[in-house]
Amino acid sequence: MTVPTPTSWRRDADQQVTCIACGETVDREAAREYDKQGDRWNRDDKEFEYLCKPCHSGCCHQNRDGLEETLIAAGAGRTDRRTFLRQYCELSADDADPSRNEP
Ligand SMILES: [Zn+2]
Repeated sequence: MTVPTPTSWRRDADQQVTCIACGETVDREAAREYDKQGDRWNRDDKEFEYLCKPCHSGCCHQNRDGLEETLIAAGAGRTDRRTFLRQYCELSADDADPSRNEP
């Protein structure tokens, strides 16, 4: 007796994603989800970013209080790289608290 193999779920597995750390293209199946808002269980209206396994395991798991807020305040994913980097530098150079930099 053979177990039937559903094929519908495989559509996802065929997708490829780009690692946000090294730019490598990997199978979505092999990638780790990365949610820059830190709440990966709330999936509504979200696009996840991905890390390949080597980058994920090489991730720094130390305390990073304020980093996500700084990234979001700097426009991560919403602005072009140049603008983001400039804003990020300004935000992190001034203070660890990005809310003080709101215009
Ligand atoms: Zn990577």
